Amino acid sequence: MTRVFNFSAGPAALPESVLQTAAAEMLDWHGSGMSVMEMSHRGKEFISIAAEAEALLRELLAVPANYKVLFMQGGAIAENAIVPMNLLRGKASADYIDTGEWSKKSIKEAQRYCKVNVAASGKAGQYTSIPPRGGWALDPDAAYVHICSNETIGGVQYQATPDVGHVPLVADMSSDILSRPVDVSKYGLIYAGAQKNMGPSGLTIVIVREDLLGQALPATPTAFDYKTVADNESMYNTPPTYSIYIAGLVFNWIKSRGGLEAMAAHNRTKAAVLYDYLDATTFYSCPVARDCRSLMNVPFRLKDEALDEAFLKGAQARRMVQLKGHRSVGGMRASIYNAMPIEGVRALVAYMKEFEAQHA
Ligand SMILES: *Cc1c(COP(=O)(O)O)cnc(C)c1O
Repeated sequence: MTRVFNFSAGPAALPESVLQTAAAEMLDWHGSGMSVMEMSHRGKEFISIAAEAEALLRELLAVPANYKVLFMQGGAIAENAIVPMNLLRGKASADYIDTGEWSKKSIKEAQRYCKVNVAASGKAGQYTSIPPRGGWALDPDAAYVHICSNETIGGVQYQATPDVGHVPLVADMSSDILSRPVDVSKYGLIYAGAQKNMGPSGLTIVIVREDLLGQALPATPTAFDYKTVADNESMYNTPPTYSIYIAGLVFNWIKSRGGLEAMAAHNRTKAAVLYDYLDATTFYSCPVARDCRSLMNVPFRLKDEALDEAFLKGAQARRMVQLKGHRSVGGMRASIYNAMPIEGVRALVAYMKEFEAQHA
C-alpha cells in the first residue's frame, strides 16, 4: 500500500495513525463486539465516545464553561441559515465581513432571514487581503458580526481575532479550526464543518455562548434550534456517530502532538516551506497579500497557465493529488491542513522546482 500526499481542500487528509486505529477497531470497539457504526447513540458505549470527544475539544480550545459544544449536521452551509435563525434575537440586521467565496455564500443565505450590512469587503482587491479592522462600518445595533476566519478558496486568513466590542462575533472556522489556539471567549459563536481539520464530513461543530440560546425564530426547525440541541446533549436527533468517533480520535492525535500551540508552530513551519519558494521564483506566484496568507490553503499560479495540465499530471505521477485550484479562481491550490506532514510540502516544493527547471 502506498498512500498519496493528498492536498484536497476537503474532505481532506486525516492522520494515518487515526485511520489505523479506526481500522483496528472497525469490527469490535473496545470489546463491545460492535463497530462504532452499529452502536445505539443512546447506549453507554457511544455516550462515552461522544463525551470524550467533547471533553478533548473543550480541552484543546480551552472552551469556557459558559459555552455549549454542539455536534450537529448540515455542514457550514446549513449553519449559514441556522445562525441567523437562532441569533437574530429580535434584531433586524446583522453585520458581515466579505472576504471571499465563503463569506459571499454566508451573506447570500443570511439575506433570506434579515437585513445584511456588509461592513467591509475585500472585493475591490479581488479578495487578496482582509479589510483592516479600522475601516469596518459596524452597526452597534447589529445582532452579530460574521466573519470567515479562513477563506478556503481564496487563501486569506485572519491573523488575529478582530475586536467588535459588545456585539457577538460569529466565525465560520471550517477550514482553520484546531490549526492554532483561539480565544473562544472573544466569540459569541464558532461553527465548522469537520471535513477539513477534524474528521469525516457529516459532522458540524458549533461552540456557542449560553446567553445567546433560546431566542430562535419560530419557524426554525426544532433539530436546528441550538437550545434544543444543547438541552439534549446533541442527541435530539441521531447525531453523525461515526464522524464524532473519528473526530475524537483526531482530537486525541492533536493532544498527543502537543496541542494547538504545537500544531500552530508546525503549521507555520510547513507553510513557510511553500511560501518562501513562491516568493523566490517568478515561475509561480501567490496572489495573496503577505500579511493575510492562509497557513491552511495556499493558492498559486503558474506563469504560463498552458502548463497547468502538465503540472497536475506530473504531480499525480509523483503521488501528489488534488492540487487543482477551485473552479472559481483557477490555478493551483495546496491545502496543507494539520494532517499534512511537512514531508508532503517538501515533496511538493521539490517537484515544483523540478518542473520549473524543465519548463522555464
Ligand atoms: C468547506 C467550507 C464550507 C462548506 O461546508 P459544507 O460542509 O459543505 O457545508 C463553508 N465554509 C468554509 C470556510 C469552508 O471551508
